[in-house]
Amino acid sequence: MASIPPQSGLSRVAPYVPGKPIEEVQREYGLQDVIKLASNENPFGPSPRAIAAMREALTRIHMYPDGESYELRQALARYLGVPADHIAVANGADGIIMQVCMAYLDDGDEVIVSRSSFPIYDRFTYAMRGRLIKVPTRNYGLDLEAMARAINERTRLVFVCNPNNPTGTIVSQAEVEAFMARLPDQVLVIFDEAYHDFVASDAYRSALPYVRAGRSNVMVMRTFSKVYGIAGLRLGYGVAVPELLAPLQRIREPFAVNLLAQVAGVAALEDEEFRQQTVAANHAGRLYLYQECERLGLNYIPSHTNFVLIEVGAQAETVVQRLLAEHGVIVRPCAGYDLPTFLRVTVGTPQQNQRFVAALEQVLRRLN
Ligand SMILES: *Cc1c(COP(=O)(O)O)cnc(C)c1O
Repeated sequence: MASIPPQSGLSRVAPYVPGKPIEEVQREYGLQDVIKLASNENPFGPSPRAIAAMREALTRIHMYPDGESYELRQALARYLGVPADHIAVANGADGIIMQVCMAYLDDGDEVIVSRSSFPIYDRFTYAMRGRLIKVPTRNYGLDLEAMARAINERTRLVFVCNPNNPTGTIVSQAEVEAFMARLPDQVLVIFDEAYHDFVASDAYRSALPYVRAGRSNVMVMRTFSKVYGIAGLRLGYGVAVPELLAPLQRIREPFAVNLLAQVAGVAALEDEEFRQQTVAANHAGRLYLYQECERLGLNYIPSHTNFVLIEVGAQAETVVQRLLAEHGVIVRPCAGYDLPTFLRVTVGTPQQNQRFVAALEQVLRRLN
């Protein structure tokens, strides 16, 4: 019997392959001690304040959460310096990407992304039967000028991942300004600032000032999955003028953010100490990884995030596989990002970083 075909947009979408969970690697390879440096989570765990807030909220989870996420949006509004009606929260930043695509794309509408960027933009564009325009990178980073040139009458959305995942690069304030000067009013640009907290460069600026200034075609997206350490709860948000967010409100799930995520989000935002410790440890860990790459004679892309892209050569898939099977170290292969000679490693705790380097050194020595 013929199976019922899904809607046509899905013909271009394969199931997402995430970084392998630790438990799966333990099961598959019979390993006890496994570390995951594949999904850019916080290696120091969740904010302690977030844990305390969730403990306190556990006895209330028989109730639906606040569908408006009032307290969380108020806390974000104070933190970001925008009115609460400028904030939409969702089940991860991924949820915001899905909502934006559902709310704004008609069949055949064009969406501009960079090659070697975050793959979730592609998935929801295809799912909504949009046309994806992939612009080549320049020096492993986004070529914003070329992305601006790709805009035409059919363009609806442009996703600017800044800093970019998986390359760790930024586009400068000057590049963003030049891009914004060319952006037509009817094209919505989404700045994905998932790694905002890790950037130390003076050349970088958040795009939030455009939202604060009332620009009607700019959205900024961020997540609690990286610096705040609550990836497992799924919490992200978009910031834009209320008129831009209104269509998202119409298509989103009624209770898009669960109760524990709402209380943990408020607590994590207040935990400035944890955020600063994470950023400082990440900075030190990144420098350590650079230094070890140099010692091993490996090319790497200097990063503004909590991960590093390292070039290990044509055998990158094998290297990633052996790190996993022989050493219990999970990292990300990058062929799916058009970077087949690279692996992406999340900056871990000092101990995890050392273990990764030792394992990489062994794997490479045996391959050569
Ligand atoms: C991790 C990540 C996200 C997704 O964050 P969630 O809130 O966990 O869905 C979005 N964009 C980029 C670039 C990311 O790396």
